[in-house]
Amino acid sequence: MDVVIVGAGQAGAWVARSLRQEGHEGRITLLGREPHAPYERPPLSKGVLSGAEAHPPVLLTPQQCEALRVDFRPGVEVTGIDRAGRQVRCADGSVAAYGKLVLATGGRPRMLSCPGVDLPGVHVLRTIEDSRAIASKLVPGHRLLVIGGGWIGLEIAATARKQQVDVTVLEAGPRLCARSVPPQLSDFLLAKHRKEGVDVRLSTTVTSIGAGRERALAVQLSGVAQEFDAVVVGIGLVLDTGLAEACGLEVRDGIVVDPSGRSSDPDIYAVGDVANQPNSWAGGRLRFESWANAQNQAIAVGKAIAGGEVVYDEIPWFWSDQYDLNLQVLGIPSNDLAGIVRGSVDQGAFSVFQVAEDGLRSVIAVNAPRDIKVAKRWLKQGTCPPPSVLADVSVRLDKL
Ligand code: NAP
Repeated sequence: MDVVIVGAGQAGAWVARSLRQEGHEGRITLLGREPHAPYERPPLSKGVLSGAEAHPPVLLTPQQCEALRVDFRPGVEVTGIDRAGRQVRCADGSVAAYGKLVLATGGRPRMLSCPGVDLPGVHVLRTIEDSRAIASKLVPGHRLLVIGGGWIGLEIAATARKQQVDVTVLEAGPRLCARSVPPQLSDFLLAKHRKEGVDVRLSTTVTSIGAGRERALAVQLSGVAQEFDAVVVGIGLVLDTGLAEACGLEVRDGIVVDPSGRSSDPDIYAVGDVANQPNSWAGGRLRFESWANAQNQAIAVGKAIAGGEVVYDEIPWFWSDQYDLNLQVLGIPSNDLAGIVRGSVDQGAFSVFQVAEDGLRSVIAVNAPRDIKVAKRWLKQGTCPPPSVLADVSVRLDKL
């Protein structure tokens, strides 16, 4: 049976690897829009952006493709799926026939709708080229405006500050990273970025961007003009679900899939940012934009296609590195649950445990990776020590 994978990011590349590791013998075709071999994206806002890493780690080198017999085709745009004929059509006129099809199409950066977003100097961050283009603007003394106080925005701000760039971050909402962490953590991130010299402005939007007089761009911030050398827009992702929708698959905040990754067509799977899958830890369906999810969900889909019985139901987890902070989030934090704090918020080494009536719900750890490790075990076992123990730093949690 031939497998075609559309999308050669973290998820697509890992489906290919997993298929072969699980003994799949048929043809594997991996179609990617970008001209590069599949690569890791996390360094694009960190090491590649700062210039410390020339290239992000490659997920499938040409040698690995040869060894795994993966027919990787870069620079290919898939334009349609013919479900009856079991083939995909590409912009160059070629077709690829499939027995099973995997959609790992991810998404594109959402763009602002205000005038001036197409001016040179206005960037987004998704690809190696994007990262290098922004890196070229990170010159000491330059002024950078980051629009969006989410993960991309904050990681870029942290990297730019390390290069002595003058950084302003605008967040339209009243707090940072509001979709993924509770107010306590938003407040901590706000204080940290301000301490590092970032001008963070909440509940502020851009109304227009134009050419500047002294610097490249003049931006209207809530009606007041200010000049910047560059602007980066990091206001979320627009999912690439067009192919799925056009061929009639069920799409509701992503491509709806079952616990093994199968869509409403049993011969078509979806993985990564675009997949909306049941998740018991989220208490319903979850579409999760994270590096770990893209990889682990893809490994599960590879197993499922190779014939295994698979139920993918991982505890949601992601991390972010900013300045001297490593921040990890395990589970789905709630805005309504109070957090039990362990460690020192002031010293930037602490964890916040959210415990509901039915047990541990989530953990956010700042420079406390061991707490995540032990909490993952508790979540799986359905156990959790009492709040007084969680908060007591004299107790070694891993020894409980
Ligand atoms: P994000 O985390 O969703 O953050 C976007 C932020 O921009 C939100 O706080 C949003 O506020 C705000 N926003 C929306 N419209 C705005 C506007 N017009 N003006 C100012 N702010 C606005 O998305 P992202 O940071 O762009 O990241 C994109 C993708 O990369 C995501 O998939 C993300 O998970 C991934 N990524 C992950 C990591 C990591 O895991 N460490 C790092 C970088 C990127 P509202 O919520 O109020 O709309």
